[in-house]
Amino acid sequence: MCSHPRVSQWPRLSMAEALETLAIEIGDSVTAEVESLNVAIGDHLIDRVLAEDVVAEQAMPAFRASIKDGYAVIASDGAGPRKVVSVTTAGATSSYVLQPGQCCRVSTGSMVINGADAVVMREYTEPLPGQEDRGEHETDVVIKVAPKIGQDIRSAGADFHEGAVLVPKGTQLLPQHIGLIESSCRRVIKVYSKIGVVFMSTGNELYRPTGTSGDVEKPALGLIHDSNRPQIYNQLLKHGFKGVDYGIVPDDKESLQNRLKEAIESDHQFIITTGGVSMGEKDHIKGVLTALGCKIHFGRVAMKPGMPTTFATVTNSKGLKKYFFSLPGNPVSAYVCMEVFAVPFMKKKAGFGKTELTRIIVKMEDEVKLDERLEYRRAVLIVQDGRLYARTTHPNQMSSALINIRDCNILVELPGRTDKKPVIAAGDDVNALVVGPI
Ligand code: AMP
Ligand code: MG
Repeated sequence: MCSHPRVSQWPRLSMAEALETLAIEIGDSVTAEVESLNVAIGDHLIDRVLAEDVVAEQAMPAFRASIKDGYAVIASDGAGPRKVVSVTTAGATSSYVLQPGQCCRVSTGSMVINGADAVVMREYTEPLPGQEDRGEHETDVVIKVAPKIGQDIRSAGADFHEGAVLVPKGTQLLPQHIGLIESSCRRVIKVYSKIGVVFMSTGNELYRPTGTSGDVEKPALGLIHDSNRPQIYNQLLKHGFKGVDYGIVPDDKESLQNRLKEAIESDHQFIITTGGVSMGEKDHIKGVLTALGCKIHFGRVAMKPGMPTTFATVTNSKGLKKYFFSLPGNPVSAYVCMEVFAVPFMKKKAGFGKTELTRIIVKMEDEVKLDERLEYRRAVLIVQDGRLYARTTHPNQMSSALINIRDCNILVELPGRTDKKPVIAAGDDVNALVVGPI
């Protein structure tokens, strides 16, 4: 006979205690392999994580460069006429040394020739009377305002010096970092291999599309689409990891045991499962993890959604430590727990520079009744009269309703209810975590 306890055996940790438990497990980093990538247009560098500091091999600019279109002059010549003796447009060089009374026509970014110590922008000059409209053939120009030494010249190294760290190790590359790497003179950079993360869905109710019934596939009555797996796969990609798909596992102990064992014996250190962690008769994950010798660090957290989230570790037969995030099956719970637990933990372990979600303070747009647990309310950031407000994405905040994370870019961290504070009033300040583009 099988008994079904009505009270969970797992102590309920506060969110802070759960995060502290994860912090204790951070310790050493995971073994991420390093690969070399070319820096060339078309090479996919975005989101990769640098495995080295990228240092400037040359100063930028490497020469004195003009900031304006105009004339390079000798400042001590003051205002007045000049002979146009040279021209350096951007990209051109000249070894001519400017003499008193002379100037060199320049454009933005062009080299300022030796002898010149100021640039006068075109707007502060005029042609010598009778020499209007001579364009490139001008021989004389009048400087209307006396220049100051150094005016409108970018000195060599003004943007960065040779040897400066342009993009530090651990940076997850954004377009501007790739521009900086290009400017560093490096042609090949070292990045971490995308770390493989095993993920699987569990549940007898999960439908496996057959791909044989045309464009639309509706599951038979009682079954549901496995929305978690593609969602998690893409959540991993978005955060710079690589999903290793272990498919759907039915809710029977033997299948679960076999599949989890395979994951433990694989080379991948992070394992994400969804479903089967609550109190139902088919919720076997915690039992199976225990049977496989895993240490369950927490099996319940006072949060909404995501209460039965389970974090476990085990060392496999090759001595490799494994980290399990077994998330509840409801798609919103899975999404939130990935963002607040699994991703920051994995990023920290993998040596990413920025690992924590950005925390902001916003005003709640409407009054909300507080739950007994800390609640991650799905919201969208609204700017009104220069103030930031959190607007609940959807009235249906149930953890099954994927629609409520569609427009969610912040998770408002609503504190647990107390007798003194049962609600958050409209306009009250609340903490929020940024999870999507603002
Ligand atoms: P569980 O955590 O297994 O108790 O499942 C909680 C709820 O989430 C149930 O309604 C499940 O049908 C649903 N669910 C479980 N796994 C998935 C999944 N992979 N995709 C979508 N919904 C799921
Ligand atoms: Mg289930």
